[in-house]
Amino acid sequence: MILYVATTNPGKLRDFATATADTTLADHITILPLPGLQSIPAPIEDEPTFEGNAILKACFYSLHAPGHIVLADDSGLEVDALDGAPGVRSARYAEDVAYPTIDSTLPLDTRNNLTLLQALSSTSAPHTARYRCVLAAARDGETLHTASGTIEGEILSTPQGAGGFGYDPLFYLPEHHLTMAQLDPITRLTLSHRGRALTALLRMLHI
Ligand code: IMP
Repeated sequence: MILYVATTNPGKLRDFATATADTTLADHITILPLPGLQSIPAPIEDEPTFEGNAILKACFYSLHAPGHIVLADDSGLEVDALDGAPGVRSARYAEDVAYPTIDSTLPLDTRNNLTLLQALSSTSAPHTARYRCVLAAARDGETLHTASGTIEGEILSTPQGAGGFGYDPLFYLPEHHLTMAQLDPITRLTLSHRGRALTALLRMLHI
């Protein structure tokens, strides 16, 4: 069975490709990028919750693939010392805060990570945090199911590892003594908020 996922985020797409390749995570399914997604003007993600934005995206994009199940992911990082920020604004954190000391020409993930470190610089470690992901499945503009997943960790003061994406080099898993950016793709997905949400969603869809 084919499920389409409505995301252009390369890191998320790698996670869904890993799920398709690993039959213990997703047997009998292939998760593919929604055809033509690049040419569809993106809806404004203005809901205050991950769930609201995931539903908004899944319903909107499912109208572009009649009869198919379309998945949308809304996810982010919640840091306790920052009262849950950057949260739903994780992708746009550097743009929201806009510290003048951070070079605006750096790649977005780098600027987001530098913004996080600067925001935490006056607070004391350990900086407990979690990734949260909500996945929504929709067909023909109607929500079928939503599922969420989290993973707990701590924010380091210096990045470690070159894998993953986003905040992964700063997101440390104390039980594994590694950051998310140091895990191999299958372990990363199995432990992650996205992998947990996907497993729960596929169960709800009886796949
Ligand atoms: P969204 O596209 O609005 O869902 O924003 C997701 C943002 O949250 C990403 O751009 C990253 O900054 C962050 N994020 C979500 N999931 C992950 C992950 O698995 N690793 C690293 N960063 C993540």
